[in-house]
Amino acid sequence: NNEVSLHLDRNDELGELANAINTLSTDLNRLKQARNEFLASISHELRTPLTYIKGYADIAGRPDTSDDERREYIDIIREETTHLTELIRQLFELAQLDHNQFSIRKEQVSINRLFRSVAGLVRPAFDEKHIFLVVQCPPDMTAFIDPERFQQVLLNVLDNARKYSPEGTVVTLLAVQEEDTVVISVSDEGEGIPEAALPFVFERLYRVDKSRSRQHGGSGLGLAIAKEIVESHSGQISIQSKQSKGTTVRIELTRGDSFAESAVGGR
Ligand code: ADP
Repeated sequence: NNEVSLHLDRNDELGELANAINTLSTDLNRLKQARNEFLASISHELRTPLTYIKGYADIAGRPDTSDDERREYIDIIREETTHLTELIRQLFELAQLDHNQFSIRKEQVSINRLFRSVAGLVRPAFDEKHIFLVVQCPPDMTAFIDPERFQQVLLNVLDNARKYSPEGTVVTLLAVQEEDTVVISVSDEGEGIPEAALPFVFERLYRVDKSRSRQHGGSGLGLAIAKEIVESHSGQISIQSKQSKGTTVRIELTRGDSFAESAVGGR
């Protein structure tokens, strides 16, 4: 711990400067601690699938393993590899977002078109689980956003709605205009989130129920990525939920912010 602490008991500018330096030093140490905790969680997250892969590869390779068992183990290895690949892709995406390495390419996007393309992508997985996807959007609604990044946001949020909802329920993807704000929401009738967990769901690698989320291939990064992208558009994302009733994720894009550039016609 290399926290700086200046003890200057004075009420003048020098005293203020010392206080400012102390605050900065504390903030910096908190950041370092958060980074270390994040790295520790990442290595844990990477190690878990690797442990499964190694374990099942070992048993699959034993001479007394039957062909049926071997096939089963190979399926698990395939699943864990997919999970690991997705985890690494998401971590990379977050790292890029952190370093602003990708530029946000905003353009005037038809929300209707965006919804249709996202719905097309998620539909097979929804059908498979018999979850009905309702999509509603005014035909002429547009927003000044990066279509690819926003597609990612909607995919992450819709994927959660599907993962954490039982069969036979409805998920609604909705866009409405509220004064100068475009509001996009995704509502489900799923298991919901306990109130105590709500403040944390946008944190990296946070999952309400680790084992349940793992079953669904969840990494705890989907909402963190969605938040980064929405906020990089000066928008807001929030979540409301009632346990065993359902969850609504709400994304707000206010003209003024995300639309400002369109007024001057630039990208
Ligand atoms: P994951 O990859 O685990 O789904 P996310 O960052 O997308 O990670 O979400 C964080 C956690 O928030 C999830 O593990 C889950 O516990 C909870 N969660 C997110 N969306 C929903 C939802 N629609 N219904 C219930 N729980 C949800």
